[in-house]
Amino acid sequence: MDIKENVDLSDYSTMRLGGKARYLAEADSETKIKDLVSWARQRSLLVVMIGEGSNIVWRDEGYEGLIIVNKIDGFKVISKDDKSLALKVGAGEIWDKLVEWSVKKNLTGIEFLSRIPGCVGAAPVQNIGAYGAELSNVLVELEAYDTNLGKFVTLANKDCAFAYRTSRFKTTDKGRFLITLITLRLTKAKPKPPFYESLQAYLDEHKIRDYTPKNIRQAVIEIRKIKLPDPSVVANNGSFFTNPIIISEQFEELKQKYPDIKGWPREDGRVKISAGWMIEQAGFKDVHDQETGMGIWWGSALVMINEHAKTTADLLAFKQKIVSKVYEMFGVMLEQEPELLP
Ligand SMILES: Cc1cc2nc3c(=O)[nH]c(=O)nc-3n(C[C@H](O)[C@H](O)[C@H](O)COP(=O)(O)OP(=O)(O)OC[C@H]3O[C@@H](n4cnc5c(N)ncnc54)[C@H](O)[C@@H]3O)c2cc1C
Repeated sequence: MDIKENVDLSDYSTMRLGGKARYLAEADSETKIKDLVSWARQRSLLVVMIGEGSNIVWRDEGYEGLIIVNKIDGFKVISKDDKSLALKVGAGEIWDKLVEWSVKKNLTGIEFLSRIPGCVGAAPVQNIGAYGAELSNVLVELEAYDTNLGKFVTLANKDCAFAYRTSRFKTTDKGRFLITLITLRLTKAKPKPPFYESLQAYLDEHKIRDYTPKNIRQAVIEIRKIKLPDPSVVANNGSFFTNPIIISEQFEELKQKYPDIKGWPREDGRVKISAGWMIEQAGFKDVHDQETGMGIWWGSALVMINEHAKTTADLLAFKQKIVSKVYEMFGVMLEQEPELLP
């Protein structure tokens, strides 16, 4: 087993911060995962599995256990009929390559999730979503190594406790399942409107009326290129905050005070409100904070960027400035989207 020691964690997070990992290894098969977990268990070490590190903030203290980077690849079509196609995909595949593949085959289901960085295996962890679509709409089941039971298991969609940007893998069973494969069902129908406001605006502006998976993907890519910094150029974790969900009474009260506040009613009667709008109102859009070396991306107030921060403590201090100001103005507590590990 090729296990590296004292590895810089900043190379394993697109925010490029964090201390050192005691041990790190790549795994491109189920057998390797099992062997690595048992190696760690023999030494009483914690284990965490990662993909590309685009949704992780590592602590300055580093990670005292073993990090397993998932490199399991492969796409396999397992069934198809006139209306749909089901396929199994290795957790180490790059998510956007999968989207590109599905669009080339003219399949619908994940084109709205174009250009989301990271690996396939991380997608269920926060139930990745964008432009009104979520992974949970197309995921049939997944396979994972259950570190509690010490064996590989299959979990159906309904067993994953998916919700807005979360799942059991991010909450009650954080760290327990090392995901190796996912199964998706994609359809042969065209994407159907109504589309997300900004996407529809782009389509209208560019007079795109043929809603094919290819056209939707292209539109999403173009919008995202402007809105989000490329992590290979600017250190960031994408949206740093989730949109808070509040009760409708609180939303009505806020609307009295801030008539322009943006909110989307949900089926459960609550309202999802725009974290980006609140952060902008709190004066943080396109901010460059000299004290911490952190900033906010000009294209989106949701995106925190690392301009010259040295430590995760700097990042957390900057985050706290935003959270406190937004709470002071709106009485709403912002939640961080990327995971602070360990
Ligand atoms: C510019 C930018 C834009 C983004 N846009 C979006 C967006 O629109 N929507 C969205 O939802 N997210 C978005 N993200 C966040 C991120 O891309 C996703 O969360 C992605 O799924 C993370 O993939 P990763 O491989 O980098 O995971 P990592 O960052 O490596 O890991 C994230 C979490 O998943 C766990 N994990 C990873 N792989 C596995 C596995 N195989 N088994 C078990 N646990 C695992 C890790 O332990 C960690 O807790 C964006 C990020 C960036 C930088």
